[in-house]
Amino acid sequence: MKERIVLLGPPASGKGTQAEMIRAKFGIETPSVGAILREQQAAGTPLGLEAAAWTDAGRLVPDALIVEVARAWLDERNGAFVFDGFPRTRGQAEAFDHLLNNRHTPLQIALSLDVDVATIEDRVRRRLACERCGCIVSIGLHVASADAVCPRCGGKLVRRADDTPETLRRRMVEYREKSEPLIEFYAGRGLLHRIAADAAPEAVFGEIAAALLG
Ligand code: AMP
Repeated sequence: MKERIVLLGPPASGKGTQAEMIRAKFGIETPSVGAILREQQAAGTPLGLEAAAWTDAGRLVPDALIVEVARAWLDERNGAFVFDGFPRTRGQAEAFDHLLNNRHTPLQIALSLDVDVATIEDRVRRRLACERCGCIVSIGLHVASADAVCPRCGGKLVRRADDTPETLRRRMVEYREKSEPLIEFYAGRGLLHRIAADAAPEAVFGEIAAALLG
């Protein structure tokens, strides 16, 4: 069973959803750097405020800040993880390799969630985040309408600040320029496993579970 995992993929490719399903089925913790940054922003910490200048504009946060978030997370844990949305640049991937090699716990698999642009746009239009617990839900899948409350904690559901059409365009440019090259990077290391991620979450998860157990 693989238990040191990263999830790659464009915005709204289902990384958060699949990370949560992996956690529920296999009990592996699923840090999301984006969610950690949103929590820090809501709490008004220096890290959160600095990161918000980038996230709200749909830009990637500088590598040094992100690698520190990942390092701090790893320092407090036992070594099993599914990183959702990290690494997103070659610099992060190399720093992450270094962190893991120093701990003698190398990465075991990089799952790339492949989706087309129409699916991404549709999912972003339907996506809401809970103000209280941070969970992400989709209108039509987890809740009936934008007025619903969080199905997990009853908190208020709001649109993410970076889920506007304009910011999504910027995030796609960032993805293609900086994150997509990681597919080649991990293929070169023999760690890449591509997943067709346009299907329903359960079908995508079936493929992921087979890859993790295989
Ligand atoms: P996410 O929740 O994964 O969609 O991330 C939301 C935003 O947080 C991204 O658009 C970036 O601005 C920032 N972010 C999250 N993860 C990273 C990362 N690995 N590198 C740089 N910025 C990130």
